[in-house]
Amino acid sequence: MILEQGSKNNTVTQLQKALNRLGFASGKADGQFGDKTEHAVTAFQESENLYADGIVGPVTFAALQDALHRLNLELYAPDQENNRLPLVRADADPVGEGYNRFNLRADVADAYNHVRKTVVSAGGIITSSGAIRSLTTPVNPSRSATSLHYLGRALDLYIWSGMQNPEKDPFIIVYEGERYFRVYARASKGKHKTLKAATEHHRDSGDKVSAKVIDLTALFEDQGFTRIKARRSFFRGGAYLGAEWWHFQNMNGLFSGVTTYGSELLRLYSEHKLENTPPWAHRDKVYDKGWA
Ligand SMILES: [Zn+2]
Repeated sequence: MILEQGSKNNTVTQLQKALNRLGFASGKADGQFGDKTEHAVTAFQESENLYADGIVGPVTFAALQDALHRLNLELYAPDQENNRLPLVRADADPVGEGYNRFNLRADVADAYNHVRKTVVSAGGIITSSGAIRSLTTPVNPSRSATSLHYLGRALDLYIWSGMQNPEKDPFIIVYEGERYFRVYARASKGKHKTLKAATEHHRDSGDKVSAKVIDLTALFEDQGFTRIKARRSFFRGGAYLGAEWWHFQNMNGLFSGVTTYGSELLRLYSEHKLENTPPWAHRDKVYDKGWA
């Protein structure tokens, strides 16, 4: 993939976010490669002693990923000699069998903590069914070997904290089409809304529920987390585990068509530890081209 003046796509947005994070101001991350982005790319290339033509090809992409990784190491792992990011503990609010803590990659934990702080200060809670998945967890039809859970980039809200009893659940789940749900968190200081709440039994419709809520999906998106689609089978009456409304994954620093799954695994684990594990077999898969 090559990005240059005039390019307009999602990878440009990721590029702009990365440049901004690295201190090369490229303006608003709007996905349009204009003068500001070109200047930022040129300045970045000069700082890396690359040929400074303002065009982003494989060499500049690789340098960007290295620079982002170095920045993360400075911020989150100042004493580590192995060049890997630590997993750190994040807190959640226990409900039912849900957890009160779980682990995420350090930079992702930081992004998550921003979200939780906003929710808690609005009088809401964040529940958890877990996050990081161990390399030896067996793969099955509901556990993809290329899941962002292996990378410490994904978390699951407690799966029984929504779609059960919308009059009482901490989360109200609304179907938006294309197999996507939006998650609203009940919050005493939130906005009063009337929502069509999907349930385990009314999966793509639902009854009206009035409550004070905040838009949790939007808060996660502000911090680089995206949602995933429910499985097709879920709408045909399949298992509730296919709903996936609880899953959020952080995409900060991933470039579509460029970042490999293996390079992300190596941010956390040594090659030795990865050998013969199910995820490592997929190391050559590329983000947005067969992976995630
Ligand atoms: Zn998940």
